[in-house]
Amino acid sequence: MEYLQVSAAQRSILDSVAVLDAEAVEIEKSLGRVLAEDVCANRDLPPYDVSAMDGFAMRSADLVKAPTILEIIEDIRAGEMPVKTIRAGQCARIMTGAPVPQGADAVLKVEDTEALSGDRVQFNVTVKSGNDIRPLGENMRNGDVVLPTGTEITPGVIGILATVKRAQMQVYRRPRVAILSTGDELEGLDEPVNPNKIPDANSHALMAQLQALGIEPVMLGIARDDPAELAEYLERGLKFDVLLVSGGTSVGVHDYVRPTVESLGVKMKFWRVAMKPGHPMAFGTTEKTKVFGLPGNPVSSMVCFEHFVAPALRSMMGHARCFRRTIAARLMHDVKHRVGRTEFIRVTLAKEKAEAGHTATSTGSQGSGILLSMARADGLMTVPAESSGLSAGAVVTVLLIDGTEFQLEAGFEE
Ligand code: AMP
Ligand code: MG
Repeated sequence: MEYLQVSAAQRSILDSVAVLDAEAVEIEKSLGRVLAEDVCANRDLPPYDVSAMDGFAMRSADLVKAPTILEIIEDIRAGEMPVKTIRAGQCARIMTGAPVPQGADAVLKVEDTEALSGDRVQFNVTVKSGNDIRPLGENMRNGDVVLPTGTEITPGVIGILATVKRAQMQVYRRPRVAILSTGDELEGLDEPVNPNKIPDANSHALMAQLQALGIEPVMLGIARDDPAELAEYLERGLKFDVLLVSGGTSVGVHDYVRPTVESLGVKMKFWRVAMKPGHPMAFGTTEKTKVFGLPGNPVSSMVCFEHFVAPALRSMMGHARCFRRTIAARLMHDVKHRVGRTEFIRVTLAKEKAEAGHTATSTGSQGSGILLSMARADGLMTVPAESSGLSAGAVVTVLLIDGTEFQLEAGFEE
């Protein structure tokens, strides 16, 4: 099998995953989930024409010149219904959100008036019909679909759910994900330090990458490079929706992952991607489980997660936006590159005051075993496969990995 391009591998994966089934969730636990039902308005909002300001409601015909003095005949608060009809020469004191009384067709805010003795008020400006009135149904009409299936639940969406009195709603289930590390040389976090061993970073880095997507994985532990032991672990992993296996996917004599998963009935779609870091990257499926064979090198494992696993998981959770956000940035230094594989260079991003956009700077040594290059990174900068190197000043694309849409600065200048 030849090497797949990154985009082709992504397509192959997304083509073979489906949205999971729905489950009910309470509003308090719904942030970040995706609606699996259309949510409708349960009333007109506002339910009648209401005032947008604290002020006075009157007939606009009475305020064609300023100043004008009108008689106050009623006080209307939000949540109360007016009882009087406004006639020529009259007005009502009205609070924000309170219903506009019969006869009135405009509201003027209190700042444009002066209180006089007796129940009178002076208006210092003229007004047009409809001024500062929020019309009935301006927000939503009873029965309207306000949140269609597929809506990601953000804080704003939660506000709408509460508005339409939905304490519980249907959302797509999250995948159950298992993590397995493989390798004779690996030392678990709870094992004593042995200078001849390699600490298992991948299990924990992958766990955190999953948690960042709202998924609590199950850690299967470390399987030795032994086909029988590996098969035992893999069988447990094949009970999950998604199994992430790191290490052992290459073509070394002790790389048993691919033949062992195949012997357990996993149909491999591909096992090589033309990328750096990360080329021994495998993907296969059973009826139940999507299996990702991630490279053992810690940087490669994390980079492959961002490019392949994260989009698949988001797609399974019903998200329309499955890929991490990318931005354009200006490269601060030359970058060497050999034509062939798409390269993902770990970079930090900065925003210089005088500049409109971001700058990208390599985090240092880019070996696929140098996990600090990842730990320091804000993003992954793409060097296209066909590029023969980039020069300082080039505009590059950076995939943000620093916690999805967040950034350090407010991003605007006052
Ligand atoms: P492999 O893909 O199994 O050939 O592993 C490639 C490199 O990654 C080797 O140097 C491994 O020791 C290292 N490696 C594999 N799995 C892990 C892990 N879970 N944590 C840290 N390093 C690992
Ligand atoms: Mg290995």
